[in-house]
Formats: sequence, structure tokens, C-alpha cells
Amino acid sequence: VADAPLAPAGATVEFRALRRAFGATTALDGLDLTVRPGELLALLGPSGCGKTTALRILAGFEQHDSGQVLVDGRDITAIPAHKRDAGMVFQSYSLFPHLTAADNVAFGLRMRGAGKAERLKRAKELLELVGLPQHADRYPHQLSGGQQQRIALARALALQPRVLLLDEPLSALDAKVRLSLREEIRRLQQELGITTLFVTHDQEEALSMADRVAVLRAGRLEQCAAPAELYARPATAFVAEFVGTMSRIPCVRVGEGVEVLGRRHAVDGALPADGALEVLVRPENVILTPASNGAAQVVSASFLGAVTRLTVRLDDGTEVKADLPTEAAATLPVGSNAALTLPERPVLVDRRAV
Ligand code: ATP
Repeated sequence: VADAPLAPAGATVEFRALRRAFGATTALDGLDLTVRPGELLALLGPSGCGKTTALRILAGFEQHDSGQVLVDGRDITAIPAHKRDAGMVFQSYSLFPHLTAADNVAFGLRMRGAGKAERLKRAKELLELVGLPQHADRYPHQLSGGQQQRIALARALALQPRVLLLDEPLSALDAKVRLSLREEIRRLQQELGITTLFVTHDQEEALSMADRVAVLRAGRLEQCAAPAELYARPATAFVAEFVGTMSRIPCVRVGEGVEVLGRRHAVDGALPADGALEVLVRPENVILTPASNGAAQVVSASFLGAVTRLTVRLDDGTEVKADLPTEAAATLPVGSNAALTLPERPVLVDRRAV
């Protein structure tokens, strides 16, 4: 074990028509998803959409009612959790409080009967890997939250798992530590080439770390795509609003397209068959220019650094958010009027929310 690379090549993981209900609650409602070898795939979605349940079924901590979980094409249902070749890190620090950092990291190796010299060597390597070689003899209570999660990561990697499962590993940490651990986990994951599933409800975390993001809704896959694709071409209004800010503006159907604010726009995808419609627009795609007779009135401004996000109100009460370079936003003080235009490109249209 000691001389082997830190992790063998990543596995392919497939969830097929996976279902799991807890009494009347359906946690997974036919999940279909393939995780490619060596990729970091983020499972993103609101609370209760089934992210953790999918991870726990893969780890063997939870049973599924029907469907399949395949690792490299093999159904793993009959394999007990401790033989599944998966390393897991949880949200709360799950280190053994009575063991030092090094003994925590080496715990799994001891369970597998590795000798002391080998355990020490591996623990040292892994502590170096996560940047904490000097903390080997500390106990968990002598480590910060971020350091504890690094140790938990080293422990998860110690047995050279072919799949790494991370369940909201950063959500208990403060913002600055969270950012640096994001980068560190990503770097390590790429270095090791280990297939990784990362559960989060934080869209920014998912988009910034993952090769692909799977958006779950009520136990099903809504869309799985690379971050830029998901952001620019969300398949549904649910995805669009989950992976960034969107404003909704009423529009009318004109042939295959829509008319909004007096202009025609092509539509991305098919129009809903009936009902009142709205276009969805991101703040960075809204153009505002000062105009004393403009239809939009600035109602608030929030400074975000290089850009300032203005909220404007239209005659019918619709509120729209627009990001402007901070200097340009200075020409549009709260209370002033502006002309609002949307770019030509196809827009995402949804049924009007009631
Ligand atoms: P969160 O981000 O809040 O953890 P999640 O997307 O990870 O949400 P799950 O934890 O997978 O969601 O839960 C999915 C649904 O199944 C929820 O409605 C949850 O209450 C329910 N559920 C999960 N585990 C159990 C259980 N052991 N017993 C009963 N209901 C459960």
C-alpha cells in the first residue's frame, strides 16, 4: 500500500432510475445520472431534493427501493459499505476526538491490519498532501474547523478510494476558510484524478469547483452540464433561477417569439403552450441608460465592488435588476428615470408566476 500512488484512477458511477421513499416522502424519484471517471460532479439543489440520499446510497449507508447504482458497470447493491471503496467527508467534523490527527488519518489502515511503520508513513504523506504535516500530534479540539476538514479529507483519501464523496464539507466554515478549501479540494481532486461527488446547496460553490453540475429537483435530475453551459443555457426556469439571479418581466406571445418592452425577441427553446408568459433575464444582460422620459425608475442600488446592482421599477410594478459598472451606476441615482433594453439574443420564457 505504502508505495502505491495516492489513489488509483477514478471510477465511473451510474445512478439508474434510482428511487427511494421514506414513508410518504419521495427522496429520489427516478434519478438518472452518470459521473465520469476523474470528474468532480456537484449535486446541487434546494434542501430536501435528495442530494444526501443519493450520496448515502452510493456509500452504502442507505438502501434504495428500486433502480441501480453501478460503479464501473458493476451493480454495488450487495457490497457492504466498508468494502465500497468510497471515502466520505461530512459537513460536521466527524473526526474521532480521542485520536490525534495522524491516528485519525491512519484509522482505516489500522482497521485493515496495516503495520505501525506503514501507518505512520502513509499518515505523514497524507498530512503533507493536505498541508498539515506539522499538526500530526494534535487532537481535533486543538485544530480549527478548516484544519479539521483537511484532516477529514486526508482520512477519506487514506484507503485510496476510487470515489470521493463530499457532503456539504465546507458549509460549517467561515467564508474565507471556505474559499481557500474550495481551491484546495479542487487541486487535490485533479491531482489525484479521483471521481468526486460533491453535495452542496450553494450555487456559487458548485459552479466554481465542478467539472459538471447536476441540478436536482424533487428527487429527479433537472439538468446536468458544465458550469458555463448551465449558467448561459439553463434548460428550465428552475435551473435558471437556481444558478443565479433572474428578473421576470411580463411579455406577450408573437408567433414563435415574444414581445417585451416594445421589442420582439426570439425564444430559447419552445414556448409554453398556453397561459400568460414572462421572460427571465440576468442582471448583467439588462441595459439601463439615463432617460428623463424612461419607463423604468431606479428604486434601489447595492454596491458590489466593480459593479453596482440597480433595481428599477416599471409602470406595471415589475421590478428588474441590472448590473452596471459602478461608475455608470453613479449616473442613475435612486429616484431617477432610465430606459431599459434587453439584448437581442434569445430569451428564456416561462409561465407567469402567480
Ligand atoms: P439537505 O440539503 O436539506 O440535506 P438533501 O437534498 O440532501 O437536503 P435529503 O437529505 O436527501 O435531501 O432528503 C430528501 C428527502 O427525504 C427530505 O424530504 C428528507 O426529509 C427525507 N429523508 C431523508 N432521509 C430520511 C430518513 N432517514 N427518514 C425520513 N425521511 C428522510
